[in-house]
Amino acid sequence: MTKNYTNPETIGLHAGWRKDENTNSVAVPIHQTTSFQFDDCDHAANLFGLSELGNIYSRIMNPTCAVLEDRVSAIEGGVGAVAVASGQAAAAYAIQNLCKKGDNFVTSSHLYGGTYNQFKNVMADMGIEARFVDPKDPENFQKAVDEKTRAFYGEVLPNPSFEVFPIGEVAAIGKPLGIPLIVDNTAAPVICRPFDYGATIIIHSTTKYIGGHGTSIGGIIVDSGLFDWEDFKERQPALNEPDPSYSGAVWSEAVKPLGPIAYILKLRTTMLRDMGAAMSPFNAFMFIQGLETLALRMREHSINADQVADFLSKHPKVERVSHPSIADGIYQERARKYLTKGNGGLMGFELKGGIEAGKQFINSLEMFYHVANIGDSRSLAIHPASTTHSQLNEDELLNAGVTPGYVRLSIGIEHIDDILEDLSNALDKVDA
Ligand code: PLP
Repeated sequence: MTKNYTNPETIGLHAGWRKDENTNSVAVPIHQTTSFQFDDCDHAANLFGLSELGNIYSRIMNPTCAVLEDRVSAIEGGVGAVAVASGQAAAAYAIQNLCKKGDNFVTSSHLYGGTYNQFKNVMADMGIEARFVDPKDPENFQKAVDEKTRAFYGEVLPNPSFEVFPIGEVAAIGKPLGIPLIVDNTAAPVICRPFDYGATIIIHSTTKYIGGHGTSIGGIIVDSGLFDWEDFKERQPALNEPDPSYSGAVWSEAVKPLGPIAYILKLRTTMLRDMGAAMSPFNAFMFIQGLETLALRMREHSINADQVADFLSKHPKVERVSHPSIADGIYQERARKYLTKGNGGLMGFELKGGIEAGKQFINSLEMFYHVANIGDSRSLAIHPASTTHSQLNEDELLNAGVTPGYVRLSIGIEHIDDILEDLSNALDKVDA
């Protein structure tokens, strides 16, 4: 057992693991195994029947993944987590764990393009309707609700508009209705703790800041344990009606002796077991390395990005910059309320010269990588309209906060002088 630390700097290094009991290994071992030997037939039956928790098969759980799950859950202040193969799988499972064919969920339209497409098209093919609303006014969530609405969804620091989501306001609308808020906190780990403001479920693409080194694809779902599913039997049938995929278990009742983990245990033992997008133990190991420096990196990303936002907003060739450090109006209020430990490393800006200037700028960068990723230790740049968000039509692009000449930057942890020099040189090469 390790102590229950509360500071993310310490959790990232110590939560959920001290040493290997057989070898005294300090580093978390990579348990590269498909299966786990049962003690005897009773032990096997207990594990399958969930009367005892333990390892069965690495599609459903794995000890290396478990350390990652414990640490991310502790950083977010949750009661449990499930690691999956990608951020996309995390978003899908988080929704599918509550929504069946004929159900709907209300989602912010300010989303990463891949999530937008998954919700709009793939979920629709499965008979689950995503109702997109503008998060600027939280009341838009209320207006879109009907008796089949099972969840609210939003991105804390939406990629790529970077206008902070009204977490507390939307969670408060959902609470009396029995509608939990699921948030994607990929862009703001450590700097925002969504459970403190009433969110029920958090997902991350661990591919980004949690990994931090651009080596591995992964995702994770964290349960706050704070939602009383039993109080909303009609609103939340997935957790309150017998589940034929687990011997008719009623999750909210069956799991009670194990703690407030009905949502996350159902997700592991149905979604992950049956759909199978498991995280590999090797990738979990890589993310555990990333977690060790996550809090430190988020601090440096934020400090550097604040300076870049200041530099860009004063540059004569720049039309507008989007970063929480220079947001105004309601977005400034939300940034101050929800981003308590820094403004994050992501930002967008529009060049006065529009789309051609945007391309010239990206082609002129030397140190920044031109890649479809965010949250790396290195500085990265991309033109969303022609890449990550290219599957969206013009209206959808604008709804997601993407204009044609918009450039997205993920500011790294290099020395700020080198970052500013690369940006400044590239801007010099842009026709005014
Ligand atoms: N959520 C956000 C905010 C993202 O930016 C991304 C990817 O860019 C994803 C989810 C999807 O994550 P992954 O690429 O790990 O599937």
